[in-house]
Amino acid sequence: MRDWRRRAVVAGMSLGLLGGLGIWGWEAAGAPPDKKPGKKMSAIREVPPARPAEEGLDKELTQVSLRFTPENVPPGGLFQFEASGKDLENAAEVTLICGEKRDRFRAFRVSGGLWRGYGALRLSAEGKENVRAFLEAGLPGGASGEKETSIGVASRDYPSSRLKVAPKFTSLSASQKRRTKEDQRAFAHAYAQDELRPLFSENFVNPRGTSARVTSVFGGRRVFNGRTKSRHLGLDLDGSPGDPVYAAADGVVRMRRDCFYAGGTLVVGHGAGIFTSYFHLSRFHAAEGDAVKKGQLIGEVGKSGRVTGPHLHFGAKVGGVHIDPQLLLEFGFFPEADGMRRDRAPSPDANAGTDARAKKAKNEN
Ligand SMILES: [Zn+2]
Repeated sequence: MRDWRRRAVVAGMSLGLLGGLGIWGWEAAGAPPDKKPGKKMSAIREVPPARPAEEGLDKELTQVSLRFTPENVPPGGLFQFEASGKDLENAAEVTLICGEKRDRFRAFRVSGGLWRGYGALRLSAEGKENVRAFLEAGLPGGASGEKETSIGVASRDYPSSRLKVAPKFTSLSASQKRRTKEDQRAFAHAYAQDELRPLFSENFVNPRGTSARVTSVFGGRRVFNGRTKSRHLGLDLDGSPGDPVYAAADGVVRMRRDCFYAGGTLVVGHGAGIFTSYFHLSRFHAAEGDAVKKGQLIGEVGKSGRVTGPHLHFGAKVGGVHIDPQLLLEFGFFPEADGMRRDRAPSPDANAGTDARAKKAKNEN
């Protein structure tokens, strides 16, 4: 782990994410005269702490065990991590830092030295055997501890497709570009409002009901009008304008907005870094700041934004990373409640006779 972090420092990557206390703190602030940037790794290894008092701030967590569920995670997949041990009994905070982008997933204390959190692998983990990560703990007295680990990557295939949409969605005017920038800021603001602990106590349900038909899976490579390339970062579910859209789990509405690409949009925060989003809505049934319950009506299917027909685009993020919503729906947060979940899931009447609709409801976004 230490070698890994040193390489990151040399490469000039974000020091803020490296929890730069101890020697890294002053490397970041400006190295002393005899230690210029660009030196070899072996030289960095010998750099002494800035002050003797800082020694020990960068503690190796030897009394900590880490467990990932599932053990191997597909790109775009969600996982649970549990860290436990004597070293964490007095920790103030525990964070898992993952992959080249240094994605940060915060854990919450379950009891004593046991901490739990949720993380995700980016689609960019495709083709890798594993992704490096480390656990970082804030310890008493301002010290920090760390433990290196890695997460096995499971293979998963994603399809490709070519789609045709209105030209305005592939060549944007200046004002449309401004609008998409404002949309991005609004999404960022929504995703920044989180609770450390989960706001839900049951597994997630399909926002279109148990019999909802999937018209486009997550992760597909797409070419719009033969030129704009992107990945499909959600799950498209069949529906006609006016069909009900339900909250996938308990949470708080963090955004309600009319967006350029996403159309009528709701973002719901579920705590523990987990968010779901609902695009292309024709009507809203919840307002920003509303606490919503799993299965509660929050909107209606529509065809607003960049679409080829009416449908619900259902998205999910964990710690800022897009995940496959299908994997979120299948994830056993509460394995013991799994049987109950299927009994109580909302079953919208609107799912009958989907075939004709499915033809026109190709999707996008
Ligand atoms: Zn979509």
